Amino acid sequence: MAERDEDWLRQCVIDAALDLAYTGLSPQMSGNVSARCEGGFLVTPSGVAYTDLVPDDLVKLDLEGNLLDGQLPPSSEWQMHTGIYRERDDVGGIVHAHSDYAVSLAVMHKDIPAFHYMVAVAGGRDIRCAPYATFGTAALADHALSALEGRKACLLAHHGQIALGETVEDALHLAHEVETLSGQYWRALQIGDPPLLSDEEMAVNVEKFRTYGRRS
Ligand code: 13P
Ligand code: ZN
Repeated sequence: MAERDEDWLRQCVIDAALDLAYTGLSPQMSGNVSARCEGGFLVTPSGVAYTDLVPDDLVKLDLEGNLLDGQLPPSSEWQMHTGIYRERDDVGGIVHAHSDYAVSLAVMHKDIPAFHYMVAVAGGRDIRCAPYATFGTAALADHALSALEGRKACLLAHHGQIALGETVEDALHLAHEVETLSGQYWRALQIGDPPLLSDEEMAVNVEKFRTYGRRS
């Protein structure tokens, strides 16, 4: 991937935040977006409507969560973003959203099992639901990191979803996919308990997704 300078990265975060607003993936000011940058990461400020954001509103933190640049308080979930960037070298962008179907499953503490091969796009045989903890806490950050082990997305009980990517665009794309899968699984549950693909079949699908699609 081409090196991205900080101005470009700021615009990428703003574009993803506007997508959350305009597609309705994360209503009002719920959710948050970040991108890894030199020395740390850029994250959306806390409690500001996405449609009001300009690139200078983003907050730059280092991987210990120290403020490097910015006038506004960082997202209340800064510990979740910090922990992921610290632990996961593969991650360059993060999208957290309160999308309707993901929330519907998460309030029921439901993982998304292997009901469809596309579940493998999140990196494994299922998409886990992390246990509940209060928003904006280190406890929630810990739960999310555990649920994300070997995965690029998880649900957060009584809260929403979080999706990771090499870039913030990849993370946004995955957040939309998690919402689609959540809606499809929710519908299948109205009919009954869907049969699941085997672990062996899901391992094949995970492997195929390693090389599927355009590589940046
Ligand atoms: P922030 O506006 O502080 O990012 O909070 C939104 C949110 O979704 C908290 O989980
Ligand atoms: Zn949230």
